[in-house]
Amino acid sequence: MQTVSDYFGSLVFDDRVMRARLPAKVYKSLKKTIDEGVSLDNQVANAVAEAMRDWAVEHGATHFTHWFQPLTGITAEKHDSFISPSPDGGVIMEFSGKELIQGEPDASSFPSGGLRATFEARGYTAWDPTSYAFLKDKTLCIPTAFCSYGGEALDKKTPLLRSMQAINKQAMRVLKLFGNEDVKCVKTSVGPEQEYFLVDREMFDKRKDLVFCGRTLFGAKPPKGQELDDHYFGSIKPRVAEFMEDLNEELWKLGILAKTEHNEVAPAQHELAPIYTTTNIATDHNQLTMEIMQKVALRHGLVCLLHEKPFAGVNGSGKHNNWSIATDTGVNLLTPGETPYENAQFLLFLCAVIQAVDDYQDLLRLSVATAGNDHRLGANEAPPAVVSIFLGDELTAILDAIEADAPYNAAEKTVMKLGVHVLPKFLRDTTDRNRTSPFAFTGNKFEFRMLGSANSIACTNIMLNGAVAQSLKGFADALEKADDFEGALHDLIRRTIHAHKRIIFNGNGYDDAWIKEATEQRGLLNLRTTPDAMPTLLEKKNVDMLTGLKIFTKAELESRYEIMMENYVKTVTIEAQTMLDMTRKEILPAVAGYTKELTETLAAKRAILPSLPAKYETGTITKLSSLLDQIDAAADELEKTTLQIKAIDSVTESAFQIRDAMLPRMAALRVVCDEAEPMTAERFWPFPTYDKLLFGVR
Ligand code: ADP
Ligand code: MG
Repeated sequence: MQTVSDYFGSLVFDDRVMRARLPAKVYKSLKKTIDEGVSLDNQVANAVAEAMRDWAVEHGATHFTHWFQPLTGITAEKHDSFISPSPDGGVIMEFSGKELIQGEPDASSFPSGGLRATFEARGYTAWDPTSYAFLKDKTLCIPTAFCSYGGEALDKKTPLLRSMQAINKQAMRVLKLFGNEDVKCVKTSVGPEQEYFLVDREMFDKRKDLVFCGRTLFGAKPPKGQELDDHYFGSIKPRVAEFMEDLNEELWKLGILAKTEHNEVAPAQHELAPIYTTTNIATDHNQLTMEIMQKVALRHGLVCLLHEKPFAGVNGSGKHNNWSIATDTGVNLLTPGETPYENAQFLLFLCAVIQAVDDYQDLLRLSVATAGNDHRLGANEAPPAVVSIFLGDELTAILDAIEADAPYNAAEKTVMKLGVHVLPKFLRDTTDRNRTSPFAFTGNKFEFRMLGSANSIACTNIMLNGAVAQSLKGFADALEKADDFEGALHDLIRRTIHAHKRIIFNGNGYDDAWIKEATEQRGLLNLRTTPDAMPTLLEKKNVDMLTGLKIFTKAELESRYEIMMENYVKTVTIEAQTMLDMTRKEILPAVAGYTKELTETLAAKRAILPSLPAKYETGTITKLSSLLDQIDAAADELEKTTLQIKAIDSVTESAFQIRDAMLPRMAALRVVCDEAEPMTAERFWPFPTYDKLLFGVR
């Protein structure tokens, strides 16, 4: 029998394949490009392309594609076959270095937010050698960046790579000051935990809201929801287990380190976590994981829902972005060390993160802002829209002591002086497992929990890398100048703690009292919705940071703002239109149909014996008739709003109107429809209800 280690990575042109198939010189040169970002010459590219093609063709591939991540949030590919005619009437399989390095997809239909006028539809894809090529359905996929004719980024990978470069540069400056001469580069790593729902495909197909929007727009609360918590870590149902087994195999073949999976809190909700890896690769892998989850689900008669809030009244799905920063020598800079020298370095990197999260709360918030995720953040669900950091009691007490120049450990009576004191050793699990914090320190990494399940992790990591790079830049500027390094370091850490401790909060993030304290006493931001959060992208301090570190140009930021807002507007508008369609074509006729049946029953009763009791019929007819009118009126209101918003030119104004007028009207329509559902006979209801969707997979 084949074991996992036999087939792990079998569809990947990874280091093992490169080493085996590339001439030694080519391999060495490519490694330099991958590890140190040295640019590649044509000869090497040609040799790599040839080896890639041979390997791919041996594995049954017929096509290749530049695989990229345009701003639609999903991945895109345009397939070209390897074939090329040969003079004797046959074909040969061809793939040149040029085809490997650069592609030119007709890109006019990808969102560019005005960066690329349609008449110059050209966009370029450029090979990212740091992420391995892989095979998918007989196609060799080459991870690429995607940019416009003028070199402006039209994707998520380009700024992500730039942000990794920025944090590398600044972290290296700081590390030099601590005497880390052997370190060649610093990389951030990410382990994204991915939540999702599985529903039966037949049921899914019967609901236009799921088909068009990925979430239910109607649905009364079922008799049983998640109140018993009996699903969380519960035993996995056979059909789901088969899906997971199949999924793991597919992911492992692609070299994706799928590690843990379990049931989540809500019924039908599950989670998959991979082992962490370099941010750029983790991002590619997460995109692939989402794609493959959906594909494998279909094979099992299931549909995988990645929407943040597929069902009202039960938990939505998020994604936890576990983030850390490590040297190429294998030192995680967020591990509290055991020697004083390591402690000071750790504390400085910790302070860099604290300052970054405080200074750029808005960027972190907007990096996860979508119409779907608004149903979690800022609603009554974890985490809140207010960004704060959980450090745990122990670390907070240490920072407090440093800030106050007071003894940390009362029994020891020594004042914490960096460089002489030894931090207590943190055991990962002694820091308590706060589940409500949006940004929690978990022993040697930070876990950012605001991401929605459907979000690409690229945006969050761009902002996080950028913000931390900015802190480190300031730190390096200050320390490089200092005559007394230790004194300056101590001072810097104290000052940073003092200036940014408002962002540290170890309590319950769901508590209303916290939101009040955060906004009123601490002055933290509470950007509840996408239209609240998005405009902060263009605030001066944010533009300065992101352009200063060369992560984005001003024009790129402006275009991204447009695209994100447009996406919000389009998403909610489609939802509103779907609601209207379902209401008029399905719900109203169903309720009217049942009302008619009751009327006929009532008439029949009256015909036989007018004195027969008919309280149920008359009562229900009355209530449903009234609801029919209310539903009809609410639909009219929503339609009017939809038309009004369509007439607005400015995307910003449309987004605000959607937040203030359209979403409330959608909610109002839903209330009356959901009221009619439990009063209407089940056989009349036109689509599967919550109980069936949530408990229908066995
Ligand atoms: P949880 O209790 O939150 O599920 P886990 O230990 O299972 O925590 O880790 C969750 C994720 O964090 C996994 O994807 C794991 O690989 C990742 N992770 C662990 N250590 C690091 C690290 N140093 N940097 C980034 N991610 C990490
Ligand atoms: Mg977690």
